[in-house]
Amino acid sequence: MNLSKRQSEIIELVKANQPTTGDEIAEKIGVSRATIRPDLAVLTMLSILGARPNVGYFYKGASEISLVKDRIANLKVEDYMSFPFVMDEKSSVYDVIVGLFLEDVSSVFITNNGRLTGVVSRKDLIRTTIGGMDLNKTPISLVMTRMPNIVTIGPEDSVFEGARLIEERGIDGLPVVETEENGDITVVGRFTKTNVNRIFVEFCKGEII
Ligand code: ADP
Repeated sequence: MNLSKRQSEIIELVKANQPTTGDEIAEKIGVSRATIRPDLAVLTMLSILGARPNVGYFYKGASEISLVKDRIANLKVEDYMSFPFVMDEKSSVYDVIVGLFLEDVSSVFITNNGRLTGVVSRKDLIRTTIGGMDLNKTPISLVMTRMPNIVTIGPEDSVFEGARLIEERGIDGLPVVETEENGDITVVGRFTKTNVNRIFVEFCKGEII
């Protein structure tokens, strides 16, 4: 479950000054005691806070792990995604191979008039190459994975959801997409295993708190 902003604020207040009473917490936040009663109930139930009768609330910290999970769940794809590399459906397989090398990416998103229509990975291109096709004459649309079979993610979605989809589908990355008013799906970013790896490293270095 996600902690609310007020619940996180309560934890910080208790950590900074413990034990502390419910009245003191309410006063510091500037709300009534009744307002924070459900928050305190949740936090004690999760063993984040402990409560001693006639003493007050103290920080138990037993659920650091749930705080970490919560923090990760709140990170958004748009803040960690990379710039997308997009090519037109009419490009030849050869041009896409060259583009993939020049851009140093592992997959290319394919569009038609700006609309996402496909994804091509390194292995798709290797398969086509060893298949003996004329790479200059074969349009990429013939070898790409097509809509609607493309797994996508939205900029506002959590990085955890992105990582989960990548893991579950066994793919390297996802196009980050937005749906226009006319129903067109456009690509605004790229969320890949590299982004997930970066988040992991930043998290462990304490750069994401
Ligand atoms: P590689 O094939 O180089 O290991 P991937 O694991 O990303 O790279 O791709 C595996 C297959 O899944 C390829 O056929 C590719 O076209 C397809 N694919 C890649 N990304 C997606 C996606 N987001 N949604 C659906 N299919 C994808």
